[in-house]
Amino acid sequence: MLSVTPIPAFNDNYIWLLREDSTSRAAVVDPGDATPVIEALERDGLSLDAILITHHHADHTGGLAELIARYSPRVYGPDNPRISGIDERLGEGDECRVLGRRFEVMAVPGHTLDHIAFFAPGVPPLLFCGDTLFSAGCGRLFEGRPEQMFDSLTRLAALPGETLVFAAHEYTLANLRFALAADPNNADLQAYQAQCEQARALDRPTLPSTLEQERRINPFLRGHDAEVQRHAAAQGHAGDALSTFTTLRSWKDRF
Ligand SMILES: [Zn+2]
Repeated sequence: MLSVTPIPAFNDNYIWLLREDSTSRAAVVDPGDATPVIEALERDGLSLDAILITHHHADHTGGLAELIARYSPRVYGPDNPRISGIDERLGEGDECRVLGRRFEVMAVPGHTLDHIAFFAPGVPPLLFCGDTLFSAGCGRLFEGRPEQMFDSLTRLAALPGETLVFAAHEYTLANLRFALAADPNNADLQAYQAQCEQARALDRPTLPSTLEQERRINPFLRGHDAEVQRHAAAQGHAGDALSTFTTLRSWKDRF
């Protein structure tokens, strides 16, 4: 069995810590800072076997050099020469095996052009999606076009509903404020907001979410929904799912 827990970093990043229950082997996803990772590994007496990287941004890669020097883990990440220290450069359709679980790599450009996601089929399925899909939101388009991000999110949303979504930031409450502007009559969304506010008041993470949940409440996955289209249309063009997504993304950027 693999357990996954968040290591909080910076203001609102989560570095996800994967560990095998029966051994002391561990892996981390997107270590932007080495210090909290080292603290977590030492506290629990774990060895760092592997690192997964989703994209090149410094808050996802900044701890790599120090962790490599200290633990010599196997490092899996995108095929981007701007990231040094990657042992296996992966793209769409590639696979890797980490702590006994098989991970399928999906190219999900949009937030950045090099962005990949790691999906582990199984019980439960696990998705490490970096800054592509957030709970109730999605990443900003720093490098990609809206249609690339729309396609990436559409493919992630088609994974099994029970998939646990491990996004890299605790942005959920801010995302929910926007989601309720875009989809104010969605009862699932209202209930989810209450649940997440309670979690944050207790200093608990709102993540992981599930894909089933995100399909019900995340406006960026709901561009096909008539209500979402109606509210997006007041902010720009919203004739179909892609144009609705495009309008939602630019509306959120100035929200
Ligand atoms: Zn990023």
